[in-house]
Amino acid sequence: MSDCIFCKIVANEVPGTIVYQDDDVVAFEDANPQLPVHTLIVPRKHYDHIGDNIPTELLGKLFATVPRIAKIKGVDETGYRVVVNTGEDGRQTVHHLHIHVLGGALMPIRMGPAD
Ligand code: 5GP
Ligand code: ZN
Repeated sequence: MSDCIFCKIVANEVPGTIVYQDDDVVAFEDANPQLPVHTLIVPRKHYDHIGDNIPTELLGKLFATVPRIAKIKGVDETGYRVVVNTGEDGRQTVHHLHIHVLGGALMPIRMGPAD
């Protein structure tokens, strides 16, 4: 998608700090990190969100990349949180599927509705 910022990062058309890449997935640092570790994992191919008819094999590859990133970022022992914001209520702002890997500090417990 020509106007998608993550497609541009994947295509090296805009800079991103790449943490890992292979034929199907790319992981890069979030531009506005919420925690000491905040890395995004995306499929190279554009899908809007996790419900966008993604082949099961690709979904498996994306999630198999999570522990790999955790290890690269040094949070595999301490733990981390994996987040996939989806749609409006999920507060998805970039509409190219991405997995957030967050770590390096103790997470808030609360996961309920916004105040
Ligand atoms: P969402 O709210 O859609 O789940 O998360 C989008 C994430 O993408 C946010 O955490 C935001 O900081 C990050 N982001 C937005 N634009 C850019 C960008 O141009 N480059 C990078 N590396 N991250 C971005
Ligand atoms: Zn895209």
